Amino acid sequence: EIDVRGLHKSFGDNEVLRGIDLEIKQGEVVCVIGPSGSGKSTLLRCVNLLEEPSKGQVFVGGAELTDPDVDIDAVRRRIGMVFQQFNLFPHLTVTENLTLPQRRVLGRDKAAAAKVAAENLERVGLSEKASAYPASLSGGQQQRVAIARALAMGPAVMLFDEPTSALDPELVGDVLAVMRMLANEGMTMMVVTHEMTFAREVADRVVFMDGGVIVEDGTPDQVIGNPRHERTRHFLSRLL
Ligand code: ATP
Ligand code: MG
Repeated sequence: EIDVRGLHKSFGDNEVLRGIDLEIKQGEVVCVIGPSGSGKSTLLRCVNLLEEPSKGQVFVGGAELTDPDVDIDAVRRRIGMVFQQFNLFPHLTVTENLTLPQRRVLGRDKAAAAKVAAENLERVGLSEKASAYPASLSGGQQQRVAIARALAMGPAVMLFDEPTSALDPELVGDVLAVMRMLANEGMTMMVVTHEMTFAREVADRVVFMDGGVIVEDGTPDQVIGNPRHERTRHFLSRLL
């Protein structure tokens, strides 16, 4: 579903991605781990073209995003993204946060958008907050709204960039539970995270990045449980 080939990305003289090859099949959950500055966010942002790759190709659902003739908006509609910061519209209710992008981007009418919003709020366990404003919600609830908003667009793949890093520890579990549900439903997911328990239990594969390259790519048991590279061992020893 996601296919990254020979991806390079430089900011000026700083080559942040130095040749990334990564394939994520439909229904697969891949966790990306690695030290700060290793290029994890840049890789994720290249997968929906929030950053333009310097070199290489990115395919999502068979369409090449890096093809200059591609309808980038059409491809992007198939990609849901959830960030560390929830980026909800503060002046809109929860429901309005979910219906606005459906109406603007997908052209759904009000009733259809409201129905999809309600379905997805229920999935994340927040039906009772439909009329609330973001500021009245906990961080964990806001993040679940952000996930529901992305799901309401009907994405084929979901990208997560440290979705629980900004949360108080007691709120992390609810967000991870929603992500676990999505994984069980067969969603194709690419998740940058420091949550090793989640990676171990939910990921089909774990990718360890360092210095803009993929150092290790394998099952959680291989990469977290029995890393082959000293750099991976060093990273994990500092984390656990
Ligand atoms: P973290 O764990 O801290 O989130 P990361 O692995 O996500 O780190 P990136 O955010 O991808 O790392 O950053 C990799 C490198 O790219 C860093 O050296 C960063 O300074 C640089 N970088 C990222 N975005 C930009 C930008 N827009 N302009 C210039 N440099 C950037
Ligand atoms: Mg990052």
